[in-house]
Amino acid sequence: MSEVKERSLLGLTLQELTCVAEEAGQASYRGQQIFEGIYRRRVESPEQISNLPQPFRGALVEAGFSVGLPGIEKKFVSTDGTVRYLMALADGQSVETVWMPEGDGGEAGDGSEAGIEEENRAWNRATICVSSQVGCAVDCQFCLTALLGVKRNLTAGEIVGQICALLNEQHVLLPQDRVNIVFMGMGEPFLNYDNFMKAVRLLVEGVGIAESRMTVSTAGIVPRVYDFGSEPVRPKLAISLNASNDELRSRLMPINRKWNLEKLMAAARDFPLRPRERLTFEYVLLSEVNDSAQNAREAVELVRGLRAKVNLIALNPGPDIAFETPSEERILQFQKILIAAGVPAFVRRPRGRDIFAACGQLKRTVELQTI
Ligand code: SF4
Repeated sequence: MSEVKERSLLGLTLQELTCVAEEAGQASYRGQQIFEGIYRRRVESPEQISNLPQPFRGALVEAGFSVGLPGIEKKFVSTDGTVRYLMALADGQSVETVWMPEGDGGEAGDGSEAGIEEENRAWNRATICVSSQVGCAVDCQFCLTALLGVKRNLTAGEIVGQICALLNEQHVLLPQDRVNIVFMGMGEPFLNYDNFMKAVRLLVEGVGIAESRMTVSTAGIVPRVYDFGSEPVRPKLAISLNASNDELRSRLMPINRKWNLEKLMAAARDFPLRPRERLTFEYVLLSEVNDSAQNAREAVELVRGLRAKVNLIALNPGPDIAFETPSEERILQFQKILIAAGVPAFVRRPRGRDIFAACGQLKRTVELQTI
């Protein structure tokens, strides 16, 4: 007896869902109804798409279709309200997705402060940090995720699924609730470019999250930065800089040996910004490594003339990471030099450090529990 293979609806475009309906002998508008059911209403099974005829719902399930939401395997709640979720994927792999109830202090979506204040809500503006790969191949020396290596790319459905599962879990109502998405979890989104971009389009067209509320961070996959700039629908761009010269950056981020600062900054200068849009540079400060006054001055020269801001992130320490968190004094000195030179610079509050949910700390759930 042949087994019915489970097929996920999440990740399919309107056109693909229309084909699913037509192949089942249904009118093509049923595709639109499935699209709205899985993305806008975020149902958990095909049976819940209530405007489809019952026999068609049954036929979808019989044909092996499921919505394909990842399961929430574990969650860790931080004292600051951040929640780190371990999401179980269909093949037994898992990724982490982080819910930050008051944003991460770095990305505020479209920058507008005109949020809808909900009473009885523990949050006014939440940010979801999403993974794009199981593990990561980029090997940044200060990152715990890097220690895993890369296991595989996530599908578009798995990327969107993390967000839908969390929106359901947190009872988010769109579009009235303010939710920002940052593609800054496990993995390098630009090494899984097609699936990442497909997920973005589904989030915009299906789930109803504006692209201006999304930010993607890259370690500097230069050819994809150019591709990304020509996308008609795209999130904002953040570049993970972390060093002020090539010698240092190649040491901290081996990807710099392939695309050095000259190439990266040329791509940043060529990047077509929308009106009022700014590039973000992320700079993880490592004590006595990249946080000197000289480093700050070099960073100023790198970004000079760019419409950009710099987010400073004090290292989130972890086991097996050979760096230390700088003192408050050094962090503020670094920031001061940038600001004095006219570069907007913000110190990001670490979120969920106690539960290993902060930047560069993802995917230690299982390992840490056994340590
Ligand atoms: S910082 Fe990001 S790009 Fe670098 S290894 Fe970690 S997950 Fe990958």
